[in-house]
Amino acid sequence: MTIPDLHRAIVDRRTEFLDLLGELVRIETPTGDLAGAERFVVHLRAVLEGDAWAVETDEREGVGALLVARMAGRTDSESTLLLAHYDTVHDVGTLERSPWRVEGDVAYGPGALDMKAGIAAAIVALRALHAVGGGPAGRVTLLVTSDEETGSHASRERIEREAGEHDRVLVLEPSRDDGALKLGRKGVADFHLTFEGRAAHAGLAPETGASALVELARAALTIADLGDAAAGTTVNPTVARSGQATNVIPDHARLSVDVRLPTMVEAERVEGAIRGYVPHDPEIRVRIDGGVNRPPMEATVGNRRLLARAQAIGATWGWSVESAVVGGGSDGNFTSALGVATLDGVGAVGGGAHTLGEHVRVGETLDRVALVANLLASDTGAVAGDDAHPPAAAVSDGARQP
Ligand SMILES: [Zn+2]
Repeated sequence: MTIPDLHRAIVDRRTEFLDLLGELVRIETPTGDLAGAERFVVHLRAVLEGDAWAVETDEREGVGALLVARMAGRTDSESTLLLAHYDTVHDVGTLERSPWRVEGDVAYGPGALDMKAGIAAAIVALRALHAVGGGPAGRVTLLVTSDEETGSHASRERIEREAGEHDRVLVLEPSRDDGALKLGRKGVADFHLTFEGRAAHAGLAPETGASALVELARAALTIADLGDAAAGTTVNPTVARSGQATNVIPDHARLSVDVRLPTMVEAERVEGAIRGYVPHDPEIRVRIDGGVNRPPMEATVGNRRLLARAQAIGATWGWSVESAVVGGGSDGNFTSALGVATLDGVGAVGGGAHTLGEHVRVGETLDRVALVANLLASDTGAVAGDDAHPPAAAVSDGARQP
């Protein structure tokens, strides 16, 4: 089997891919809707078991069960974790307003792009691999989570545990609207500063007060200056609350700050500066809560090597695979931060994510399914110009030490 053989085998499965995607889209699964989640998990489990995946479910408090499906490899080549989520941002009833439909090369439906097409992609990629190539080279685990859209609080532990037991991670999130894969993503942090001062009558004895509001204003300016446009770090005070009456010096104020971080070095710089904030007014006390929710997904050596492999595969059928570092976070942030080679955005391509116009461009998406299948058919391998770097195994093993 050659790479173009497998590509052709997947393009031939277009109808099968669309039928499968339609079934998944027609079960509505907003995050936290336990009835929808259960219906979805029962359906997906049956499909996967029909394809001889070994399936287990992992119940999590307050959200739907996670689904973990495993398939053996032909050899002890590199193992791969395929990461997906079945929850969507769309409320129940959205399907009535934007029903599942295929018009030419475009398939519409809530959650089709983000990311039920990624789940269908994994299933079709493995079917084609078995039909044409004798199965994946190394063992494959498909982890489908239920709370990605609300921050993966219930599933993060399982995502990190599975990532630690695999050599590489392919995140089946959609690519950027222009088709670029996601080599890096910014990390996300938020901080909440609470200022306590002393109230006083603003007319009779203002000098006996200590204004939490004035301190908040100074803090907002100081903290906003931590942003670094050249580095790609943004630090934005976003919510401020203080004051009860126009004639009272306020004794309480609260400030929230949104932070986006390209690297761990920047994360440490900004977090250190915010946590080390010293009030200008020595009579004000400040408490600082919050921190980094998703660490940055950096363009590590392992991530670049996976991308280079993807580019070599795409080039065999004339596809020039582009990549980008993007702002929004995904579960790939967790796996990459553990030091496991991660390539994100290998799921569907389309547009309108999180809107009624959400859609998948089918032809380009099938190219990505073929990319996933071909990545699973062989090791990542070394790439040209790689000699200056330590081998992938040494990098990821070292970074995985607790
Ligand atoms: Zn998603």
